[in-house]
Amino acid sequence: MHNRVVIIGSGPAGLTAALYAARANLEPLVVRGLQPGGLIATTSEVENYPGFVEGIGGFELADNMEKQAARFGARFLDTLVTRVDAGQRPFVLTTDDGQQLTADTIIVSTGASPRKLGVPGEERLANRGVSYCATCDGFFFRGKKVVVIGGGNSALDEGLFLTRYVEELIIVHRRDTLRADPILQERAFANEKIRFIWDSTVEEILGEERVSAVRIRNLKTGAVSELAVDGVFPYIGHVPNTRLFEGVLTLDAGGYIVTDGRQRTNVPGIFAAGDVVDHIYRQAITAAGEGCKAAMEATWYLAEQEHAAKKASRPESVSSSASS
Ligand code: NAP
Repeated sequence: MHNRVVIIGSGPAGLTAALYAARANLEPLVVRGLQPGGLIATTSEVENYPGFVEGIGGFELADNMEKQAARFGARFLDTLVTRVDAGQRPFVLTTDDGQQLTADTIIVSTGASPRKLGVPGEERLANRGVSYCATCDGFFFRGKKVVVIGGGNSALDEGLFLTRYVEELIIVHRRDTLRADPILQERAFANEKIRFIWDSTVEEILGEERVSAVRIRNLKTGAVSELAVDGVFPYIGHVPNTRLFEGVLTLDAGGYIVTDGRQRTNVPGIFAAGDVVDHIYRQAITAAGEGCKAAMEATWYLAEQEHAAKKASRPESVSSSASS
C-alpha cells in the first residue's frame, strides 16, 4: 500500500498531524499502535486543553480528534510498525501483522510510555494490583488502600482521580517537595483521603496472587518499613518509544528523537512530533502544535519533491528556452 504520508502513533501529535495532512488532501494513513489515542486517552480529566471551559475526558478528547481527522479523509490502521527502512525511497514500513507499507513521508508520533520502577514484584504483579492507568483501573480499587509513587502532575492528577474510588491513598515521593503544579498540590493537600510519605521510595512490591504490601525505604534515615496496600500506581515519568528508530534516526542521550525547530529529523522526509521528541513540556497542546508543524512540513516537502521531479522530467530544450 503506497501512501504520501504515514503517521506512526495516534496521540494528540499524530491525530493533529493527520487532520492537517488530510486537509492538504494527502489522505494520511495513521498506524494507531498499541495505545490508540495515546497517553491522553488514559487520562481522566484534561483541564488545560484550550477551548473546553469545564475540561474534557482524555478519551473523549482523543476520540474527537480522530473523528475530526477522519472527516477530512485520514485513514487508520490498527497495527504496530515493527520496522522502518529509511534507506530507500519510498520509505518501507513493516507492521507486526506482516504488511509492508510504502511512504513518501513519515511523521513519527509514537509518544512515550510510563517509566517502570524497576523493583522486584513490579513485573510479576502487573495487572494484579500494579497499574499505570488510574482511569482504566481505578474502578477495581473501590474501598481499597493504594499507593501512588511520584511527585509530578501525573501522580497528583491520577491520585486525585483515584480518590473517587479508594478509601485511602498514600503518595510516596522521594523528596519532601512536590514537582506538580500548585493547583494540584492544593487539591491533594486538602483531600482527606490522601496522605504523603516523604523522602522515600518503594523498593519492593509484595504479594502472592495480588499486591498485598510495599516495602518502603526512607532515603534520609535508611529505615525500611512495610505498608499493607491493595494497589500500586507508579507515576514516575516516561520513556520515549523510540526503540524502532535506533540506528535509523538521530536520538539524544535520553532516547528522544532529535529534530530541528521545524520537526525535521536527520532523514529528509521523516518528521517527528509530540512526546517522542519533547522531554520538557509534554502537554497535549504542545504535542498537537508539533503535529500541526510536522504535517505542514511534510506537505511542503512533498510539494518541493514534486516540483523537482517535474523540473527534472522536462525536455532540455523546454527548460533552456524557458530560462532564456
Ligand atoms: P514528571 O513531571 O517527570 O514527574 C515524575 C515524578 O516522579 C517526579 O516527582 C520525580 O521525582 C519522580 N521520580 C522519577 N523517577 C523516580 C524514581 N525512579 N523513583 C521514584 N520517583 C521518581 O512526570 P509526570 O508527572 O508523568 O508528568 C509528565 C509531563 O506530563 C509533565 O510535563 C507534566 O506537566 C505533564 N502532565 C500534566 C498534567 C496536567 O497538566 N494536569 C497531568 C499529567 C501530566 P523528582 O520530583 O524528585 O524528580
